[in-house]
Amino acid sequence: MAGDENVRVSEKLHFNTFEFEFENLHYAEGRGQTYVIFDVKPQSEGGRGERLWGYVRNKPLGDHAEVILMSKINDHLETHQDNYTMTWYMSWSPCGKCSSELVPWLQNLLKKQHKLTMHFSRIYDKDRAVDHRGLCDLQHVVSNGFQMGVMGQTEVDTCLAEYVEASGCPPLKWLHMTDSNATQMQDKLSSILMNRF
Ligand SMILES: [Zn+2]
Repeated sequence: MAGDENVRVSEKLHFNTFEFEFENLHYAEGRGQTYVIFDVKPQSEGGRGERLWGYVRNKPLGDHAEVILMSKINDHLETHQDNYTMTWYMSWSPCGKCSSELVPWLQNLLKKQHKLTMHFSRIYDKDRAVDHRGLCDLQHVVSNGFQMGVMGQTEVDTCLAEYVEASGCPPLKWLHMTDSNATQMQDKLSSILMNRF
């Protein structure tokens, strides 16, 4: 996995890529890839843990970003054993297939006292029923150790401050619309989780 061009460790995402890929439109034309910005931090200082951060994207016609990232994190947990708090900022919510792999992986993570929060910019529903069922399955894992939800301006601001190469760049074109779009996306998510789709 090391050296994989789809996994960038300790590297910020380019501003233009973030602006295009993370715009939280209801209908987002041309966004065929999933990007996940990740930060895996030791829960306490002075242990054997080491921070792992960067971003990952899916391989076109290949592994989805989440699958690549789970594998990358598994390697890290094996070689740098500690308890970690992880945050993922995702351009799309997981598809049904990824959710079915994420659920057991998350359960295992929680058993080992790790924590993960997942924020997604848009809800992926290409294969509607399957993808929505996947989100419901993920919702069943929600607990003290695992949270998921829609990205709002707070999360976008965090990305711009910490994980996007934004110095000297103009404000995001859609920043002023982020929270109102996020409210709509949150309503959609709530309907899905209440099984009203
Ligand atoms: Zn997927």
